[in-house]
Amino acid sequence: MDKIFKNSKLVPYYYLGRGAFANLGMLLNAKRKTQGDFVVVVIDHYFSGKHILPEGSIHADDLVIYADTSEEPKTTYIDALTDQVKTKNRMPVAIVGIGGGSTLDVAKAISVMLTNPGKAEQYQGWDLVKHAPVYKIGVPTIAGTGAEFTRTAVLTGKDKKLGINSDYSVFDQVILDADLLETVPKEQFIYTAMDCFVHNCESLLGRINDTMTIALAEKSTQMMKEIFLGEMDLEKLLVASSLGGLAVANSSVGICHPLSYGLSIELGLHHGFAICVAFNQLEEYYPEVATFKKILEKYEIHLPKVVSDDIAEEQLERMAVATMLNEKPLSNAFGDDWENIFTKEKIKSLLRKM
Ligand code: NAD
Ligand code: ZN
Repeated sequence: MDKIFKNSKLVPYYYLGRGAFANLGMLLNAKRKTQGDFVVVVIDHYFSGKHILPEGSIHADDLVIYADTSEEPKTTYIDALTDQVKTKNRMPVAIVGIGGGSTLDVAKAISVMLTNPGKAEQYQGWDLVKHAPVYKIGVPTIAGTGAEFTRTAVLTGKDKKLGINSDYSVFDQVILDADLLETVPKEQFIYTAMDCFVHNCESLLGRINDTMTIALAEKSTQMMKEIFLGEMDLEKLLVASSLGGLAVANSSVGICHPLSYGLSIELGLHHGFAICVAFNQLEEYYPEVATFKKILEKYEIHLPKVVSDDIAEEQLERMAVATMLNEKPLSNAFGDDWENIFTKEKIKSLLRKM
């Protein structure tokens, strides 16, 4: 059989360095050609009233949306925000996402939905987007998801958590500025960073891999260990997160993410936290769980047990079914006959420990 080659899309431009966020105004002004051109800024609600946007970057006619990230983004939220932008009766010349994975995914999804008809849930899946999106800039304010470099915008729909996976979801420009990370609370900081650590482990021990993704994930893991077991360096963390995002974008997650989705959907847990709870019980699959535990200990993070000892069998069943919906990651981890190896009973026994 002929070899199938993947044509990998990357973010074309990025700034890196403390203070780099100051370039935002210049980037946006380059897009404003005529009077009436406006920009949409989607910024995490944490920054409401904190005046972090660089002087002069935002004009009176721009639309600044404070994204509510108390819940992870839903398709209905994207539809509502897209409608809000459309009330301007003309297309924005740029969309800027400033925040964590949730906000970056909201910005990505709006940029796609403004130029494609219908509802966001119609585009959850792989390569369903037909029309080129609005130009978009991503600025992470918390590091770990790698969302700034991936080709997906993860959304929760009526019955599934699934990304808009498309070359059109990729940012046109990224700004990596460690100054923006200084205010993240410790627990959230670790949960999101560990998302990157877990992406790397899942990529490296999976079957969907190539020389590039292995190199990226190995380097990212090495940097994470230096940062979390040695000296903290926020800029290095942003880079490790970016490398992890690039790696996982061209490989796949494995066992931990499907289990975390089961936990998140049933118990409403946030992604990074659910990832940590699940990974903590996966030492039989991932030797790096030992390193992960050392990091938790160093940062004095105590993970609670989230699945109650007397959980109802029906709820456990729903969690296991939600886990097993993730065929691609599970076959990445175990091969095509994953269901015979990673049985529902095995999944339930792992969930019971979480
Ligand atoms: P998040 O965006 O959900 O934010 C978590 C919390 O941190 C929020 O309360 C937010 O207000 C706060 N916060 C963010 N920046 C802050 C700052 N500088 N100071 C203080 N508080 C700050 O967190 P996340 O872990 O980055 O993102 C999780 C989301 O990313 C999930 O929805 C997940 O599905 C998604 N994700 C996407 C990809 C992708 O490739 N697109 C990859 C992994 C995860
Ligand atoms: Zn993740």
